[in-house]
Amino acid sequence: MTKRVAIIGAGPSGLAQLRAFQSAAQKGAEIPEIVCFEKQSNWGGLWNYTWRTGVDENGEPVHCSMYRYLWTNGPKEGLEFADYSFEEHFGKQIASYPPRAVMVDYIEGRVLKAGVRDWIRFNSVIRWVEYDQAADDFTVTVHDMETDHVYKERFDHVICASGHFSSPNVPEYPGFEQFNGRIVHAHDFRDAREFAGKDVLLVGSSYSAEDIGSQCWKYGAKTVTTSYRSAPMGFKWPANWEEKPALEKVEGKTAFFADGSTKDIDAIILCTGYKHYFPFLPDELRLKTKNRLATADLYKGVVYVHNPKMFYLGMQDQWFTFNMFDAQAWYVRDIILGRIEVPADKQLLMADVSEREAREEASDEVKYAIKYQGAYVKELIADTDYPSFDVDGACEAFFEWKHHKAEDIMAFRNHSYKSVITGTMAPTHHTPWKDALDDSMEAYLQN
Ligand SMILES: Cc1cc2nc3c(=O)[nH]c(=O)nc-3n(C[C@H](O)[C@H](O)[C@H](O)COP(=O)(O)OP(=O)(O)OC[C@H]3O[C@@H](n4cnc5c(N)ncnc54)[C@H](O)[C@@H]3O)c2cc1C
Repeated sequence: MTKRVAIIGAGPSGLAQLRAFQSAAQKGAEIPEIVCFEKQSNWGGLWNYTWRTGVDENGEPVHCSMYRYLWTNGPKEGLEFADYSFEEHFGKQIASYPPRAVMVDYIEGRVLKAGVRDWIRFNSVIRWVEYDQAADDFTVTVHDMETDHVYKERFDHVICASGHFSSPNVPEYPGFEQFNGRIVHAHDFRDAREFAGKDVLLVGSSYSAEDIGSQCWKYGAKTVTTSYRSAPMGFKWPANWEEKPALEKVEGKTAFFADGSTKDIDAIILCTGYKHYFPFLPDELRLKTKNRLATADLYKGVVYVHNPKMFYLGMQDQWFTFNMFDAQAWYVRDIILGRIEVPADKQLLMADVSEREAREEASDEVKYAIKYQGAYVKELIADTDYPSFDVDGACEAFFEWKHHKAEDIMAFRNHSYKSVITGTMAPTHHTPWKDALDDSMEAYLQN
């Protein structure tokens, strides 16, 4: 009987898995029946923008954490698909930091070409997954929102690609209940123009604080204040941007910080991260990990050690994204196709995890972390037929990116890098990022 494989989510990771199987079939392999369940009405995952916050049209938690005017926060040369270059998609090389709409077009281009849309059941929320020891298979409970019908199906494998930057981590500070301005988590931030002319406080010091703060600055916030718990971001900020230590409380409109300083503010944006959240998984199948490069309990970063018929994609903290998801998807595909063997001894699987954790913990340096994840991508690619590419070259693009950010945080997106897939240098964008207020694809691709 043909094996059946369930994929949860049609974001970049789930789509990589569909493309991986389709590419094997294209080369003549017999592949299992693949069913991808996606709770949204379209593919693209976080990149599928919606103005909605809270719940979606089906009453389900909104998945999207992206916002209007979002441009990639790292160079596209670090994430380019090795089997589908930007040049192939757009018919020309494009600048290095595309806005979201351009990225969606690119993500979509590859899977349209592969013809895998029919493998996806949209508006289909995974409610529960159970493993049956006796039958050695999984029963998946699905809510089809179009017909409002809940049903169960059995699968030999489950691949969880539901993402981990969607369920917000929301702390509370004294005084929040009485604060008269808006308090919003980054997950629900949609449009920086809302904060034009305002004094905005961003709690947090990671990518969300940096980028949402930059958006607010670009679209006319009066001042931007970011507060850090452990260390400041330390960029050379514009004159109306300051970094403060930890927020302690809010009284009226005044925010109080750990160094005794205060600042009057109109709005608070909590850039306090996300949780790995899998409400559809029982204890024995649910990944419990921190957001780190070496996830807990995943052999080779993808095989769930407590049940190796279950896989996870994209659960690591991410320097590499699309091409790492591809490397993982090709690897998982080859395990399912019987081309790669997973050790039967659980101790060996756990030892692989421990080794990865120890190696990650060996250094706090950013360059080390980038190289660490690059090495992981190389390791997986070496065992499959995913087109090999210059991973070290992609690491170099990340190093340059870091350097450009340190030089001028509001201008790093004006730089260009060389594609490691086609070898072509990206053109300089026609307008500096801070002056490019229109984020449409048409505006970006204009010569
Ligand atoms: C604000 C923000 C900006 C980012 N910017 C960049 C960037 O510039 N460059 C970059 O490379 N990366 C960026 N990322 C990282 C991002 O994680 C990846 O680019 C990518 O979207 C991850 O893909 P994924 O498929 O693993 O997860 P997601 O994109 O989160 O997709 C998961 C999919 O699973 C579906 N799903 C979830 N639960 C269920 C369920 N129960 N049933 C059915 N379907 C379900 C969701 O609807 C979604 O479609 C950014 C992330 C955020 C939050």
